[in-house]
Amino acid sequence: MDELRRRQYLKALGLDLWLSRDTPDPLAVAEAPPAPVGVRRAVSEVREARLATPAPEPAPEAPPATAPPIEVPQDWTRARALVADCRRCRLCETRTQTVFGVGVEAASLMVIGEGPGAEEDARGEPFVGRAGRLLDEMLKSIEHSRGTDSYIANVVKCRPPNNRDPQPDEAEACRPYLEAQLKLVKPKLILAVGRVAAQRLLQTDTPLSRLRGQLHHWGPDRTPLWITYHPAYLLRSPREKAKAWADLKFVSRFLGEAAS
Ligand code: SF4
Repeated sequence: MDELRRRQYLKALGLDLWLSRDTPDPLAVAEAPPAPVGVRRAVSEVREARLATPAPEPAPEAPPATAPPIEVPQDWTRARALVADCRRCRLCETRTQTVFGVGVEAASLMVIGEGPGAEEDARGEPFVGRAGRLLDEMLKSIEHSRGTDSYIANVVKCRPPNNRDPQPDEAEACRPYLEAQLKLVKPKLILAVGRVAAQRLLQTDTPLSRLRGQLHHWGPDRTPLWITYHPAYLLRSPREKAKAWADLKFVSRFLGEAAS
C-alpha cells in the first residue's frame, strides 16, 4: 500500500489521529509478525496444564435442615464415636472438634451447660477457662468435682459460631447424645447451668428468673433437674453469687437425701 492510499484508508476508518502522533502505525501492528514459536509453545503448555488440572474435591455434604431421628447410643464407645463424626446440624461446619463430656461415668450429679465456647472448642473439654474454674469452685463448695461424683456435658457438643446461643433445632439434633450420656451416667440430679441450657432442655422461652427455684424433670426417665446461673454470668454479675450458693445448697441437700 503506497503512503497516500494508506492515509486515505486510515482516515476512512476514523484512525487518522494516528497520523499526527508518534505512535506505532495500527496497520503495522495488525501486520505484526506472529509470536515466536517458544512463546506459542509456553501458552499451549499452560492451556494443557489447565485442562489437566483435576476437578476440585466436592464440598462435604451439607447437614440436613432437620436431623432425622437416630437411635440413642447404648454405650460410651458408640456414643463417643457417633459424636466425633457427627454432622447432624450446621454446628459441625464451624467446630474445631466435638466436645463430648468429662467426669465420672456413674456420677450422682450431672452438670449440663449450653455448649462449648472458644477454649472448650480448642481443648475438647467442657467448662475450661475462667468460667470452668468457677464451676469447679462451685462444685467444690458442695464437695463435688469433675473427678469425683460429677459428670459435665453440654446441650450441644459443637461450638456455635461467635459464641451465639445454640438454636432449638441444634439442641434437638444433639439430644440423642445427651440422652445417651444421661442413660449411662444415671445421675440422681441434673444441674442445668445458665438460661440457655435451662431453656433448651425444658424447651421453653420462660426467663431464668422464673425457672430457678423449682424442681423440673428431663429425659425419658424424668430425671430431677435443678437450675442455677452460668459461671460466666456470675463472673460478670458477682452479686448473684448468693443466689447461686442457695441453689448449690439445695443440690447438696437433695443429693444427701437421695443417698440416704
Ligand atoms: S452439635 Fe451435636 S448434632 Fe450438631 S453436629 Fe455437633 S454433635 Fe452433631
